[in-house]
Order: sequence, then structure tokens, then C-alpha cells
Amino acid sequence: MRIVLLGPQGAGKGTQAQRISEKSGARHISTGDLVRAEIKSDSELGRQIKDYNDRGELVPDEIIIEMMRPYLDDADSWILDGFPRNESQAEALDEMLEEIDAELDAAVALEAPDEALIQRLSGRRTSEATGRIYHLEHDPPPESGEEDPGPFVQRKDDTEEALRRRLEVYHEHTEPLKHYYADRGILVTVDATQNIPEVTEEILDAVEEKA
Ligand code: AMP
Repeated sequence: MRIVLLGPQGAGKGTQAQRISEKSGARHISTGDLVRAEIKSDSELGRQIKDYNDRGELVPDEIIIEMMRPYLDDADSWILDGFPRNESQAEALDEMLEEIDAELDAAVALEAPDEALIQRLSGRRTSEATGRIYHLEHDPPPESGEEDPGPFVQRKDDTEEALRRRLEVYHEHTEPLKHYYADRGILVTVDATQNIPEVTEEILDAVEEKA
């Protein structure tokens, strides 16, 4: 399985990629997680990209492409979460796939209105211990701390200002990729306002049909 997940912030790309990875064994590759890990490590590269991340802007293409290349080479079966984010990244992905003689099975676009996304993201918390994503209302972090000790933190770029900017960037640069993949006949669109298991099932059914 080789799929890309497109969709605005809060549509559930991370959650769905996690679930599909557990069910299928495909590797979940999240460029956002790679970016945050690099920033956390306080490396030279991490310091270079921190401001882009915190402001909700895209990190420069060359940096992101080089960051994810080894992961693509490393596994036969994967779900890309957060890449590509614009046309030049989509073209770079095509080139990298050609080099390893591989093809995409599907590009899955998760769709939801902006208001629903803002509501979801304001309640999002991530466990620093496990990386699992929770929602204060819909999927609260465990209280006992045994399954997941936390702490459960809000992302730097989930503030309202950064969020608004991220949605603008999505509509301007990432959403047009739907046409890019529709032209090739591999686009699948899924209503991301359904509940979590329904979305997963729809994605898996659609990908099976395309593969
Ligand atoms: P995400 O967790 O996917 O929302 O990504 C968080 C942040 O990481 C984004 O707002 C960007 O600053 C950066 N980032 C993640 N993926 C990419 C990408 N493909 N291209 C550029 N920047 C990215």
C-alpha cells in the first residue's frame, strides 16, 4: 500500500494514518512529526525550521524533501501524512517514486468545513510520552496515567492565529493537489466529518478499489 493523505489541519490525517497503519502494517510517515522531532532535538536544522512551524508556514521544499526521502526508500508500504503539500513537492514525490520504481495506489483527500476543523483543533492534545493524539471532548486523555503517562500538550501551531494561517496555506497550496491526482484517476475524497471508524473504513475500501 502506498497512499498519500491530503486534507486540512484537523481533518484527522494523523489519526487516520495511525489507524490504517495499525490495520495494514503500512508505515505511517508524518512530515509534521519529523519537523517537530527535529525542532525538539534543537539541532541546527531544527533551529532553522522552528519559526516556519510556529507561524503555520510551510518549511522550504528542499528541506522537507530531503527529510523524508530516506523514509520512502526504507519501506515498501506507507501512508504519507502531510506530504506533498504543494505541486512542487508532488512532483518531487513522483521523481522519488520513479527512482525506486514504485507507484502511488491512491491520494485520499479528507474533507471538512473550516469551522469544524477549528473546533476540533482547539481541543487537540498530544501525549509527549507516546505521540498519541487525543481530544479534550471527544477522546480525552486517560486520567490514571497508566496506559499513557503524558503530559498531554497543545501544539505550538494550534493557536488560533497559526491555525488560521495554516488553513489559508492549505486552501492556496495543498487543495489544488486534488486536481493533480484526480487527473491521474487516483483521487479518492472522503467526508471527514463522519466518526473516526467510518472514515477509516471508507478510506480502506476506496484504497482497495484503486489498488
Ligand atoms: P502538520 O503536523 O502536518 O500540520 O505539520 C506541521 C508543520 O510542519 C506545518 O505547518 C509546516 O510548518 C511543517 N510541515 C509539515 N509537512 C510539511 C511539508 N510537506 N512541507 C512544508 N512544511 C511542512
